[in-house]
Amino acid sequence: MPKQYNKETTMTGEYRCPNTPCKCKVDREGAYCSAYCEQAVQQAIQRDYCQCEHPECAAQAE
Ligand SMILES: [Zn+2]
Ligand SMILES: [Zn+2]
Repeated sequence: MPKQYNKETTMTGEYRCPNTPCKCKVDREGAYCSAYCEQAVQQAIQRDYCQCEHPECAAQAE
């Protein structure tokens, strides 16, 4: 199935981004909200906060 993003699913999904400190929502289980989160998980980067570019997480970082 081709990946489709419509206005109902973009960043308002029911799943949490798998990067533990990340607060972003994703529309598919196991999907990452950003390339940063994918890297953080793959490289097992442990952080108290997420540094992806989304507003929910940017508010946590200085
Ligand atoms: Zn995040
Ligand atoms: Zn994320």
